Amino acid sequence: MNTSNFVLRGSVCYSAGAESLLVMDDGFLVCEDGVSKGCFPRPPAEYKNFPLVDYSGKLVVPGLTDLHMHAPQYSFRALAMDMELLEWLNTHTFPEEAKYEDLEYAEKAYSILVKDLKEGPNTRALLFATIHVPAAMLLAGMMEESGLVSFVGKVNMDRNSPACLCEKSAGASLAATREWLKLSLGKSWKNTAPILTPRFIPSCSDELMKGLSVIQKEFGLPLHSHLSENRKECAWVRELCPETSGYGNAYERYDLAGGSVPTVMAHCVWSDDGEIKMLAERGVYAAHCPQSNTNLSSGIAPARRFLDAGMRVGLGSDVAGGAHVSIFRAMTDAIQVSKLRQALVSPDEKALTFEEAFYLGTAGGGSFFAAAGAAVHKGGQKGPGPAGSFESGFDFDALVIDDSGLASPSPLSVRDRLERAVYLSDNRNIIAKYVRGNLIHSLPREQTRTKPPQKAPGR
Ligand SMILES: [Zn+2]
Repeated sequence: MNTSNFVLRGSVCYSAGAESLLVMDDGFLVCEDGVSKGCFPRPPAEYKNFPLVDYSGKLVVPGLTDLHMHAPQYSFRALAMDMELLEWLNTHTFPEEAKYEDLEYAEKAYSILVKDLKEGPNTRALLFATIHVPAAMLLAGMMEESGLVSFVGKVNMDRNSPACLCEKSAGASLAATREWLKLSLGKSWKNTAPILTPRFIPSCSDELMKGLSVIQKEFGLPLHSHLSENRKECAWVRELCPETSGYGNAYERYDLAGGSVPTVMAHCVWSDDGEIKMLAERGVYAAHCPQSNTNLSSGIAPARRFLDAGMRVGLGSDVAGGAHVSIFRAMTDAIQVSKLRQALVSPDEKALTFEEAFYLGTAGGGSFFAAAGAAVHKGGQKGPGPAGSFESGFDFDALVIDDSGLASPSPLSVRDRLERAVYLSDNRNIIAKYVRGNLIHSLPREQTRTKPPQKAPGR
């Protein structure tokens, strides 16, 4: 049982849906057993015994979810950003990922990543590891220790990959996957769980996909992969799978695209209307990764069409296709590329508003953990629930942001302060970070500034 019970006071902002932002200038959030009980204009009497954590005047927002990231690529982020996807994979990504066979290297690299994740604004992530079981286990253990919530996937790839990063056969890949699941599911992790991670159709044979479908059903695992990212890649999939009706169908035919399988597909930049309809109907989440799509010349994902079609959508950094891990940055990138799409590609697709981008990076992606968490944290302890909102029932993931350094000659509304804090995002302004009600990070200077728990006015 989580014993995180408190009331947190501050200038609270969270989404009440894709288009609306709720703002309470002086709000009182209630956290009971790590779960939000809602936001109130004054402390509710029934929680009068809960200690008050007073962040009056500071912005308090839900934690952010990175729906798509490659943990081993963090080591070379912001390098080779002048290449296209397939060239970049072959010259930089695959050689780097091959290094994770060496656990010492993996530990050095993953330590840097996990420290940075802990100090940034994201509280949850879906992480690709590599094909290597020991390194995937190491990463998952480090994530668990960090207090962040994550799904970590040992990657499957048995074709069209360099020898240094290609599993010997479908059978070898499936056997390694079973070994990894046995190890992962044997741990008593609270915040970390495995997720099936076939890299993408070009690197997974039919036999491998068939076998993964069997494993998925046996263990009830969620799935994380790539879909319709880049035009050359889509043409390649058409060559590899001439019998399918499209890229999405190459997953769907193995029952590995939504439906009863909680699924995240990164990108969907080139998904046509039929594929978008299929994804929406099967409840697949699109991880919209605008910075990566720009860096790797992939295109501009039709985020407006996703939303209009009722698709589930969140944001991803896609590090190291994206150089920045912060989902605040992904929010601003999503707005910017949507404006370019409206101006240059499709005038009918209205650009995203700030409210929509904020929703995508919080509750949009955070809702994935409701269905997927329940799928793997069976029986024993309570797994993570949905995050990204302070509505009652959401896990209490929260960031406290001190934006007092962003001076303004005239007073700004809380909503405008939030927009500016997102656009000018600086991790040094995150003075406290809670995940499932636990304080996992706070700035040292905050120790002198935080008022000790005290009685709220009027109690
Ligand atoms: Zn990716």
